[in-house]
Amino acid sequence: MQSPAKEPRAAGAPIIEITDLHKSFGPLEVLRGVSLSAAEGKVVALIGSSGSGKSTLLRCINMLELPDSGTVTIAGETIEVVGKPGARRVADEAQIRRVRCGLGMVFQSFNLWSHMTVLGNLMEAPVHVQKRPAEQVRAEALQMLDKVGILNKADAYPSQLSGGQQQRAAIARALCINPAVMLFDEPTSALDPELQGEVVRVIKLLADEGRSMLLVTHDMGLARSIADQVIFLHQGRIEEQGSVDEVFGATRSERLKQFLSAANHP
Ligand code: ADP
Ligand code: MG
Repeated sequence: MQSPAKEPRAAGAPIIEITDLHKSFGPLEVLRGVSLSAAEGKVVALIGSSGSGKSTLLRCINMLELPDSGTVTIAGETIEVVGKPGARRVADEAQIRRVRCGLGMVFQSFNLWSHMTVLGNLMEAPVHVQKRPAEQVRAEALQMLDKVGILNKADAYPSQLSGGQQQRAAIARALCINPAVMLFDEPTSALDPELQGEVVRVIKLLADEGRSMLLVTHDMGLARSIADQVIFLHQGRIEEQGSVDEVFGATRSERLKQFLSAANHP
């Protein structure tokens, strides 16, 4: 039987939609009812203190953590999670594999395979998960390395790269699956200040290209310069959200005022 034809998606439709997400670890309630909508082609910056639940929220989006309740919808497809809290599971493994192919994830700690060259890292998922032809993938991977400025490192191993180069390789790898949306979890926070700039430049380039992105960052300068929407998470809830001008220029919440003042004067 043929599956029904997909409805064409309207321009500016949400690429990520989350409703009333809850997640606890034992007695610790980390996400306490988070709802958000990220529009296609836009950059959403997620800010908040350490421990506020930012990474947990990102990990619930690609189901590295299973939410206790609430829904996650990626490009119009709602991920089915079943079972009681504590025994949650995805209903359909094939669905989760498909949805993950639309999510380019970049972590704080690079997470490259150390036993593979940079090019090998980039080709792994497109060839072995997406089953795309190796020669075509290789050509695209080299283009991505060129885009992030490390084409000359294609045959190097991750340990031969600086932290900034490793993170740019990780970004190129995420781009190679041709994701609908990029998820970044503090991509510059493990880097020395002098290496952060080269990664920030790549992230800005992707924003300029109109890529959909959800970016967790401690870098308020970066958030200000590229975000279309800023979300401040506080103790597992969205405390404030809006445009850069609203959130940084006309801050309403006292907690956000305190957070921003601490971020500016660490
Ligand atoms: P953030 O990224 O904003 O710093 P996290 O989402 O990493 O916050 O963590 C939020 C809270 O959840 C923290 O108190 C953290 O210790 C806790 N936490 C995160 N992951 C787990 C886990 N797998 N098991 C138990 N506690 C966790
Ligand atoms: Mg985190």
